[in-house]
Amino acid sequence: MKWVDKLKSALGEERVRDDYAHRVAYSRDSSDAPPVVPEVVIHPEDAGDVREALRILSEYRVPLTPRGSGTSLSGGSVPVEGGAVMVFDRMNRIREIDPENLIAVVEPGVITAHLHEAVEGMGLFYPPDPASSDTCTVGGNVAENAGGPRAFKYGTTKHYVLALEVVSSSGEIYRTGSRTKKWVVGYDLPSLLTGSEGTLGVFTEITLRLLPKPPRHLTLLAAFPDEVSASRTVSEMVRVGLLPAALEFADHRCIEAVGDKVAPFLPEGTGSFLLVEYDGFGPEFDSQVSLTYDIASRNGLLNMFAAEDESTRRKLWAVRRGILPALEALGYVIRHEDVVVPRSRIPDLVAHAEVVERATGVKLASFGHAGDGNIHVNVLYEPGEEAAADRAVEMVVAKVWELGGTAAGEHGVGTLKRKFMRRELHPIAHDLLRRIKDTFDPAHILNPHVMFGD
Ligand SMILES: Cc1cc2nc3c(=O)[nH]c(=O)nc-3n(C[C@H](O)[C@H](O)[C@H](O)COP(=O)(O)OP(=O)(O)OC[C@H]3O[C@@H](n4cnc5c(N)ncnc54)[C@H](O)[C@@H]3O)c2cc1C
Repeated sequence: MKWVDKLKSALGEERVRDDYAHRVAYSRDSSDAPPVVPEVVIHPEDAGDVREALRILSEYRVPLTPRGSGTSLSGGSVPVEGGAVMVFDRMNRIREIDPENLIAVVEPGVITAHLHEAVEGMGLFYPPDPASSDTCTVGGNVAENAGGPRAFKYGTTKHYVLALEVVSSSGEIYRTGSRTKKWVVGYDLPSLLTGSEGTLGVFTEITLRLLPKPPRHLTLLAAFPDEVSASRTVSEMVRVGLLPAALEFADHRCIEAVGDKVAPFLPEGTGSFLLVEYDGFGPEFDSQVSLTYDIASRNGLLNMFAAEDESTRRKLWAVRRGILPALEALGYVIRHEDVVVPRSRIPDLVAHAEVVERATGVKLASFGHAGDGNIHVNVLYEPGEEAAADRAVEMVVAKVWELGGTAAGEHGVGTLKRKFMRRELHPIAHDLLRRIKDTFDPAHILNPHVMFGD
C-alpha cells in the first residue's frame, strides 16, 4: 500500500509497524465491541510526527483511530474501519509542573496515575481519577471527558483542561485555550474538544489546572442490607448538602464478585455498600461523619467502617477499583452501561434491575459514582445471549430516560452508544454536532465510526 510506504519513509520503520503480531494487539479495547485489526500502527515521538502522519492519511483518506491505553468501555478505540491506529506510548512525558500557577503540561500518553504521583509529590492535586487510572492515559481522559469517584466534589476532566495543542485532520498543528485561570477570547474550543472522542483532532499536548493537595482524608465503608437502602442514603446526603470527595455505590453482585477482598469489612447480610471519602483539613470530619451516620442509620445501615490511615484506605479503594476486573473474572461477556439519573431517582433505577433480570434472563451488576447519579449498570451474559443483552440494555436506558436521565455519563458514545445518542439528542442538536464534525474533519478520517458512523 502506497500510503503505508509513505508513512514509513516519513516517520521511519520503527514508528510505523505493519507486522500482524503488532497490529493485532491494537484491535480491541476494554468493551465488548468486536475487534478489528488495523492495517498499520503508528507510534509518534512528537507533534511533528503526528502532523506528517495526518498529512499522508488525509491525502489518501485513510481512517485514523488515536489510542491511549485502550481502556475505553464504549468501543471508542477499536479501529472499526481498519486504517491506522496512532498510539501515544512514546509521547508520555510530563513536560512541566508549575506549583506557583498550579499548572501541569503533559504529553497525551502520560498514564493518569503517574501524573497523580508526580503532582502529589509536590503537594499538589489533579482530581480526575477514573478507576482505570493505573493504566489509562491523560489523552484518553481528555478525549472521553473522563470522570471517576472524585468527580462528585471536583468535577470531570473538562474542569481541568486549560489549553490544548491539537493536530487537525489535514495535518496542521494549532493551540487553543490559555494558561490563565480565566479566558473568554472566542468560543470555548478546549471544552468542545474535551469529550470529542478523537473525532475532531488529535491532542499532542495538554495544559491542566491543578489544586493544592487536601492535607487529610477519611474513608468510610457503609454496609446496607440492600441497594434501595444504600441509594436512599445517597439521595438524602446530597439533599442535606454533604459534599464528600467521593460517594460510591456497589450492589450485591459486585460484592459477591469482589469476595474475600471486601468480606473483612462487611457484616453478614450485606447486600450493598457505599464508599464515602471526605477530604480537607480534618476538624470538619467529625460533624460530616456523624451526619452521614445518622442518615445511613435512618436508612437501614448495618455497619460503618472508618479509616484514616493510608494502608487501610488503600485496601478500601482497592475493593472499589477491583469491582470491574472482578466482574470480568467471572467469565461473562459484559455490556458496560454508564447511565446517569437525577440523584433522587437512583432508588427507582436500582429497583428496576430485578424487573430487567426477570424479563430477559441476563444478570445485572451495578456500581459507580452514586453521588453524581452515575451508575455503571453491567449486563452480564453468555455468548449466544446477545439478543437478551440488547433487550436488557434497552430496558435500562428506557427507564433512565423515563426518570429524567441520560444514556452516557463518562465513558463516551464510542460505537456502542451511537443509537442512544441519536435518540437522546434533539434532531437540531444532533445536526449541529454533525456539522461541527464536518467543519473539523471534512474528509471524515478521524474516528469516523465514533458517535456518527452508523
Ligand atoms: C477497569 C476500568 C475502570 C474504568 N473506570 C472509569 C471511571 O471511573 N471513569 C471514567 O470516566 N472512565 C472509566 N473507564 C473508562 C476508560 O478508562 C476511560 O474512558 C479513559 O479515559 C480511556 O483512556 P485510554 O487512555 O485508555 O483511552 P483509549 O481507550 O485508548 O481511547 C479512548 C478514546 O480517546 C481517543 N483518544 C485517545 N488518545 C487521544 C488523543 N491523544 N487525541 C485524541 N483522541 C484520543 C480514542 O480515539 C478513543 O476514542 C474505566 C475503564 C476500565 C477498563
